[in-house]
Amino acid sequence: MPRSAPALLSMVLCAALQGQNPARQATTPPSPVPVLASYPDTPAGRLLKEIKEHAEVVARVEYLADQIGPRLTGSEPLRRAQAWAMAEMKKLGAENVHEEAYDFGLAWTRGVDSARLLTHNGLHFRVDQLAWTPATKGPIQGEVILVDARNLEELQAFKGRLRGRILLRSNPNDKRPPLPRRDRGDMASFQAQQAAMTQFLLDEGAAAVLQMSGRKNGLGFTTSGPGRDPGKPALPSAYVPQEPYKMLLRQVAGKDPVRLELSLGGSFSAKPVQAHNVVGEIRGTEKPNEVVIIGGHLDSWDLGTGATDNATGSSVCLEVLRALQATGLKPKRTLRVILWSGEEEGLLGSRAYVEAHKAELDAIQAVLVHDMGTGMVRGFDLQARENARALMAQAIAPLNDLGVRELPLTIMNGTDHAPFDRAGVPAFAAIQDAVDYFEGTHHSQMDFPDHVQPDQLVQGAQAMAVTAWELLNMADRLPHGVVARPAR
Ligand SMILES: [Zn+2]
Repeated sequence: MPRSAPALLSMVLCAALQGQNPARQATTPPSPVPVLASYPDTPAGRLLKEIKEHAEVVARVEYLADQIGPRLTGSEPLRRAQAWAMAEMKKLGAENVHEEAYDFGLAWTRGVDSARLLTHNGLHFRVDQLAWTPATKGPIQGEVILVDARNLEELQAFKGRLRGRILLRSNPNDKRPPLPRRDRGDMASFQAQQAAMTQFLLDEGAAAVLQMSGRKNGLGFTTSGPGRDPGKPALPSAYVPQEPYKMLLRQVAGKDPVRLELSLGGSFSAKPVQAHNVVGEIRGTEKPNEVVIIGGHLDSWDLGTGATDNATGSSVCLEVLRALQATGLKPKRTLRVILWSGEEEGLLGSRAYVEAHKAELDAIQAVLVHDMGTGMVRGFDLQARENARALMAQAIAPLNDLGVRELPLTIMNGTDHAPFDRAGVPAFAAIQDAVDYFEGTHHSQMDFPDHVQPDQLVQGAQAMAVTAWELLNMADRLPHGVVARPAR
């Protein structure tokens, strides 16, 4: 991932909330992974060699993606993936393998989505429903209208004009100066504003909402709508790829009405469900009560098969277990592997874990998360923890020749280390080359194993294994504490 935007302190990676697109990076061709001439006769060297020569990480990504498929939290396929992950952990020598449940809310299942113009060129085009939004009542027909209001005040201008209409809510041609940032000071006020706008649209009788996909070249996109909380207002909503969306904009700018038939088929479970985190350990030989956590989220979006988001990170963590088993190395502290769920709906699994284990957070040496696709690891974001730099530099030192050198103070809020970080635990996300992630596979129908680069992912497994190993065995503890940071 390019590190050329130091001002961008907070990046949302996977858990794009309320239709906000994450920070996007230009597509980067993969850099060649450095090749080591030899491996030192150290535990780190043995782990590097073992993973380079015998890694099974790509095979596990393919199993998760091709055999199990998309793994929406609350879904039956995610439960199958979790059963598989527990069996794999046991096979790979982990102890205390178990699941930890938390309350999730209603499950949601994608149905068949379709759109067809009833006027103009009559085109059928791709639409992807935002998860946890209500279905249309069968195919609905309505006139399309551009509603590019950015707040409730601007929305009032459309009063009386929205009944039965299908709304275009993105306007990439908007030349107005940006609104003052008062509504975006924090997530709670942003969500309150969004809810008030949705309630206005419902009161006005709007039929459905369309937004433009953040991905180019015909790619769809999905995120969560607000309907996981039955108390929150929600409209049938979908993303439209950029080309047909811009066609609709040109058509509505003309004088003839644009009419569309739209069908969004998602459905909610009858009752709330529980979600689960999968946990397994290698007990420490000298300080078993001190823990290094490595993790990735096993849940995914459902347009593709969740290969790079995040079968890759989950499989990297399993590869670390495999490499320890194969080398016979036993850490002094306890290694705990956690495969989270509910990440895509707002880091729900890691939040639940931190809440449930509040009393034990002091015992955590560090948390490492791998969740940015296939690209090679360059280092770890330090989350403004300058006091962790020296020990983290020591932890990644055996990896410097593999390109793992970066320890910027950047704060990354978009994946499962973040709830630990906010609770004062040294917790870091791996910095990875973006490869096809933000312009391609991330949340789109392109997320298949074809876009996994084996050399890159194997280097990522080496980076996670060795960094974890060094943190498991070093004499010192990383300092804890909540770090003051600028408001978002
Ligand atoms: Zn992810």
